[in-house]
Amino acid sequence: MPQAIQLRLLTNQETAALTRRAKFNTLRPTTCQQCGHIGGFARQIFWIGSVSRTERSSEETQGLLRYHLRHRYGVDYVFFKSHGTAFYADSACCPQCGSTRIEFDLEFTDALLAEVTKVTGLPLDAVRRKLQHHVERGAALPHLPDLTLPERDQLPTEP
Ligand SMILES: [Zn+2]
Repeated sequence: MPQAIQLRLLTNQETAALTRRAKFNTLRPTTCQQCGHIGGFARQIFWIGSVSRTERSSEETQGLLRYHLRHRYGVDYVFFKSHGTAFYADSACCPQCGSTRIEFDLEFTDALLAEVTKVTGLPLDAVRRKLQHHVERGAALPHLPDLTLPERDQLPTEP
């Protein structure tokens, strides 16, 4: 476990810049699980420092991060995402009821599926099922390591 995890809420400007990137925003808020609101959500993204790549999917690390996010920022539900070399916790807040229990949905683009297929070595159908399964189980899961998508520059090169 890391000695001291750094956690910082991104500014509105940083959040806007990050969510404009298709790759980061592949998994995005769609529905409030509390009141059913669909559409626009306030986004809160936290930059996380001092967590190595291998620790990012660890249950212990994610549990610790969730604890801090809940107590320091009142955020109950987050998705962990790697983007470039950085690591983030992505969350949304319902403009109608204030809940952070928001369902995120994956946009199943061919590029996304191809990427995951390449990294995991699983057939396309299996990848689709696996991702869909995680999305259906929602953001309240203790950890979603499979949704910390690999970065393009880290993919194995073609033979
Ligand atoms: Zn709501």
